[in-house]
Amino acid sequence: MSLERVDSASNARVCQAGRMRREAVAAAGAVLALTLAACASEPPAAPQPAPSTSTSATVAAPTPAAPPPSPAVTWRVGARPLPRRPDGFGVVEPTPPELVNRALPTKDLLPPPSGGTYAATIGEVPADVLARSTWQPACPVKAGDLRYLTMSFWGFDGRPHTGEMIVNAAGATGITQVFGQLFAARFPLEEMRVTSPAELTAPPTGDGNSTSAFVCRPARGQANWSAHAYGLAVDVNPFCNPYSQGDLVLPELASAYLDRSRRRPGMVLAGDATVRAFAAIGWSWGGAWHSPADRMHFTATGH
Ligand SMILES: [Zn+2]
Repeated sequence: MSLERVDSASNARVCQAGRMRREAVAAAGAVLALTLAACASEPPAAPQPAPSTSTSATVAAPTPAAPPPSPAVTWRVGARPLPRRPDGFGVVEPTPPELVNRALPTKDLLPPPSGGTYAATIGEVPADVLARSTWQPACPVKAGDLRYLTMSFWGFDGRPHTGEMIVNAAGATGITQVFGQLFAARFPLEEMRVTSPAELTAPPTGDGNSTSAFVCRPARGQANWSAHAYGLAVDVNPFCNPYSQGDLVLPELASAYLDRSRRRPGMVLAGDATVRAFAAIGWSWGGAWHSPADRMHFTATGH
């Protein structure tokens, strides 16, 4: 199983309690028009998965002397299903020693950026990407109102990588700005990729750490959708920034990261550069909530 399952699990319990307001959707449409106007300029430079429209931006970043050797792979993500609790989540178990100071290398799914500079593209969601995403006609957002982003990020391996993300068109430009700031700050991310349908139904393994936005899934036992189902929420390094409520921790193996006084790379902390970057585009942070505390979660809807 994977993080997406973790992500969606947390969505189900909390994030996805999202009561999408019609005014927010209307506002999204207005911003979309602006976004489209801003996006019509130039095609993507790199051999990206061909967005039909794009923007690109560059942000100077500290030049690494030489990429450090990748850390040894000491953990295989998604390999060990957890027993389930009665509520369907995995049993919360102590964090394995290999993940207490988690710094797993990133597998390149897209060509990494060249020259240590931030690059981002915004385009319509290509048909093949849509087909491997969780989008379906019953989702609360039209495929045409979603955008496919590619964005540079720094891995825990000290190397630059290119990630992909599906977001609501209303937030597309802002999100590329946020991740530009994270890149400039060298804030590490482990993975950034589109959530697949299989991940929603896979058994929980409690070790996911993928940064993602759009996941089309209703709140568990409820008729309403999560902000993720509109592409209006982003989860950042879920394992480093777990969700917790009562005795539930998601991802289920991430308890070592409940101690926020032990600062480790990839953690989001109150008032830090990540929180400020999202706040600058009007997105709030679930880490400021108390029950649950959803430390991975940034949202445009307040839910
Ligand atoms: Zn979330």
